[in-house]
Amino acid sequence: VPVDDQSAALRGPACPECGRAGARRIHDQPQARYFPRVIWHCTGCGFAFVHPPPAPERLRELYALPGYFDRPAGVSASELLANPRVRGRARSRLRWLRQHAALGRLLDVGCHRGEFVYFANQEGWSASGADLSEVAIEAARELTGACIFGGDLAAIAAAHHRFDVVTAWEVIEHVRSPPDFLSGCRALLGAGDSLALSTPNQRNYHGVLHGDGWKGYVDGPEHLHFFNANTLATAVRRAGFDIVSVRTRRIAPVWLRPLQYLGFGSELEMLARAKAPRPG
Ligand SMILES: [Zn+2]
Repeated sequence: VPVDDQSAALRGPACPECGRAGARRIHDQPQARYFPRVIWHCTGCGFAFVHPPPAPERLRELYALPGYFDRPAGVSASELLANPRVRGRARSRLRWLRQHAALGRLLDVGCHRGEFVYFANQEGWSASGADLSEVAIEAARELTGACIFGGDLAAIAAAHHRFDVVTAWEVIEHVRSPPDFLSGCRALLGAGDSLALSTPNQRNYHGVLHGDGWKGYVDGPEHLHFFNANTLATAVRRAGFDIVSVRTRRIAPVWLRPLQYLGFGSELEMLARAKAPRPG
């Protein structure tokens, strides 16, 4: 091991997932779009994370930016719903949910402009949404006519709202603390209810081929955590869930697409069931 690597290992922070000391510094991104990022990779479990994380105020500012949620920019609600990729993804996720959960009350956390809530309601769910951004909340209310909450999960739980299913598509990589976020989701569910999550897959075909050069470390400049199926399952279990189904989707180039069924797709999706709280 080169001397530089050894000293970096000595300086590295402990892994927030498995606790192992001396994470390896893999990316310095002082000029990243939203805040400077240093990304660390745990040599124990493989989890990667931004450390130190940006201040909570910086994240609040970022997600309050009107432009952040107006993506793709200038696309109307009807164009968004007609977009084959948006539609296809929502329908595929809804089919997957129905294999494991009965129709009921669904909360989509980080609901963006409400597209998933819209398709869920169309397919018989009683769906509502939650988001941090006023712009997103307004847009989602207009699109769905459904109840759209602010993004503070503790406030939703405190108001005694409960759901049969909580979904959070591409959210966990953005939150400051995944354990707090997952407990927040758990508090909205009863035992036996379902949580469905997705996040960029650190072990997708590109990450497997390129390791530290995985494009996911650069592509989402606001992402704070980089999960694979194992690290995500560990975090979800620790928050009081059993894992029910794991799948990956989307892969480019198209001729490699069969690899998504082996777990190497770009989007990692996980469905979990809330366990009864341990007595005492
Ligand atoms: Zn670790």
